[in-house]
Amino acid sequence: VLGSSTFVIWHSHDQRHPGEQLPHDSKLPTVVVLGNGWGSTAFLKGLENEGYNVVVISPRNYFLFTPLLPSVTVGTLAARSIVEPTRFLTRHLKRKVEVYEGEVTEVDPTKKTVRFVDNSPIKGAIDGHEISYDYLVYAVGAENNTFGIKGVKDHACFLKEIPDAETVRQRLMDCVESANFAGQSQEEIDRLLSFVVVGGGPTGVEYAGELHDFLTEDLTNWYPDLAGRIKITLIEALPNVLPMFSKQLIEYTNNTFKENKIDIRTKTMVKEVKDKVIIAQNENKELVEFPYGLLVWATGNTARPVTRDLMNRLPAEQNSRRGLLVDDHLRLQGAEGIFAIGDCTATAYAPTAQAASQQGHYLSRVFAQLTKKHALLKELEEAKASNADPARLDSLANAVIRASNIRPFHYSHQGSLAYIGSDKAIADLPMMSGNLAVGGFATYYFWRSAYLSQLFSLRNRILVATDWAKCKVLGRDVSR
Ligand code: NAD
Repeated sequence: VLGSSTFVIWHSHDQRHPGEQLPHDSKLPTVVVLGNGWGSTAFLKGLENEGYNVVVISPRNYFLFTPLLPSVTVGTLAARSIVEPTRFLTRHLKRKVEVYEGEVTEVDPTKKTVRFVDNSPIKGAIDGHEISYDYLVYAVGAENNTFGIKGVKDHACFLKEIPDAETVRQRLMDCVESANFAGQSQEEIDRLLSFVVVGGGPTGVEYAGELHDFLTEDLTNWYPDLAGRIKITLIEALPNVLPMFSKQLIEYTNNTFKENKIDIRTKTMVKEVKDKVIIAQNENKELVEFPYGLLVWATGNTARPVTRDLMNRLPAEQNSRRGLLVDDHLRLQGAEGIFAIGDCTATAYAPTAQAASQQGHYLSRVFAQLTKKHALLKELEEAKASNADPARLDSLANAVIRASNIRPFHYSHQGSLAYIGSDKAIADLPMMSGNLAVGGFATYYFWRSAYLSQLFSLRNRILVATDWAKCKVLGRDVSR
């Protein structure tokens, strides 16, 4: 039943062709949406846009389902299975949405303009443009934080976008093939087969888990002489990995990693990265070296340059180093007409996909209420102009007040989930009777079905489910 109803919803969305959408109308306010990640996509999914001209600007023209990106690095999932073109997501809307693939370089909150450039390698005659907005939905996300540590940008791989996952996969197979090359010294084989992950947050832990699966389920078959020498190390500066999970689940993860021979080095902080060796400080303040073939850097996020520039334009109100400050209606502090959502903001809760999508959804309802308020205001003005009777004027004025009373955003934590390898996942779920912390195979199937149902389209669900089945039956591809 669930499957067929999903199909009906998907199919009915699919009915409207862009040619059947209403065109932009110069009399309507323009809403510029920056980004097409979790926040913006949830906003666009929930939006009723008859009352607005909507423009989306993002450096990529698709939405990426980030929680499954670690699976792409080892080929469990194909990259195409977890992306969805933004135009596909906006074509069910009544009014056409303009989508520009471009990178925003400047937001001027005084002039209410946005400047963006064409970031594709093939440029046309125009590579930069400025547009004005009435409302701006600022949801540009964040970038990888290197903390300015020497050598990270030059030598590490990251895990943020599809090309990152592809780079990781290629580097991994390069290491294995080079280790296999005729006449390689033993020391060099061991270095090439040392895979190091820095950062014990969910990104680092999930990646280490996927890497372990690839090693035991596939590389062991195809490289029997080398697989036993592959070493996975996870380096974390804090005393524990996954600090956002309960103690019990941290312990469960530690034990699973131990069984899986993943070496966790906590209280170890990376200080410098050279091309073949990582230099870190251990808990005794000694410098230790980790030779590596592959280094995946997953130490969290920081504000993008365009966000820092926006903060600098509002120095009195924007003084947090973590990100943009918003009020309880997600309005950017110090600016008019700007809403900020997702990883670019600094809020009381963690900047997760879950938080961003709740914010985006909330904002779509705010815009619905704004439309209602504008319509009522117009009606009130017309009623006043035509000397309508006082009772009618009163009731309209009250309706305007009710429509102006927009409820603040409230984040509702639905729990945290993470895959930790060898068909095991962990889940911290808030329940009425307190928190439920579970881990293991059953949780793994829960993790799979939760992610499957969160995917935005039936197309993605079919592709991901097929990839999982293919991987079980045929194994992963080890070609470079
Ligand atoms: P994170 O900020 O959660 O973790 C980064 C880790 O790197 C920290 O524990 C930090 O102590 C460590 N670190 C920083 N510098 C270091 C250094 N020099 N040496 C060694 N360790 C160092 O980052 P993340 O895992 O990318 O997650 C980012 C956000 O996305 C978080 O809010 C997270 O909850 C969310 N997220 C959630 C999931 C999930 O729920 N499954 C998955 C991915 C991301």
